[in-house]
Amino acid sequence: MTARLLIVGPQGSGKGTQGVRIAETFGVLPVSTGDVFRAAVSAGTPLGEQVKAIIEAGDLVPDELTSAVVRDRLAQPDAADGFLLDGYPRNIAQVAHLEEFLEGRGESLDAVIELDVPRDESIARLSRRAAEQGRSDDTEEGIANRLAIYERETAPILDVYRTRGIVDRIDGVGSLDEITQRIIAALEARGLDRPAAA
Ligand code: AMP
Repeated sequence: MTARLLIVGPQGSGKGTQGVRIAETFGVLPVSTGDVFRAAVSAGTPLGEQVKAIIEAGDLVPDELTSAVVRDRLAQPDAADGFLLDGYPRNIAQVAHLEEFLEGRGESLDAVIELDVPRDESIARLSRRAAEQGRSDDTEEGIANRLAIYERETAPILDVYRTRGIVDRIDGVGSLDEITQRIIAALEARGLDRPAAA
């Protein structure tokens, strides 16, 4: 079976790590817009040149550009059996773009995983990551900016999906394995199956 999933949570909630684990568990393609943009910046592609300064400031890449990147990725054959989106859609305009794209293919999201992590915990995790990985947007200013954008623009997208009854709110505090198990249990309770081999 296919699964079309979205994981949403503030920066530092662990959604990147959990997203990859869950995609693997359910046998679907993980698509992280942050990863796509960072790879483009590292490779120095025209897309990378366009988004480099925006990402470093912790601001959002323009919606049209971001949605075009996602549409291209989801149109590739390896996304045909399902996907897990991480970091997109990030505001109401992007929700509309995604809906239009999926409707055009006769598809819709099956479940939205909301990773719930208190603000203080997110900041603590991001500061640790800054010290460990030196990501260029993990400065104090960048972190504060991204969390403010999350609360203002991204959290409201959950209301759209909540009215459809597809949001699973997961406690994002605990060990990596505990949190993965919570997400798997919620998705299985929705009738989403893991492939036999996984
Ligand atoms: P992330 O790894 O998801 O925190 O994304 C890193 C950065 O990539 C963000 O701070 C934005 O600058 C950019 N980005 C990622 N996803 C999006 C999106 N859906 N819309 C706009 N910008 C994005």
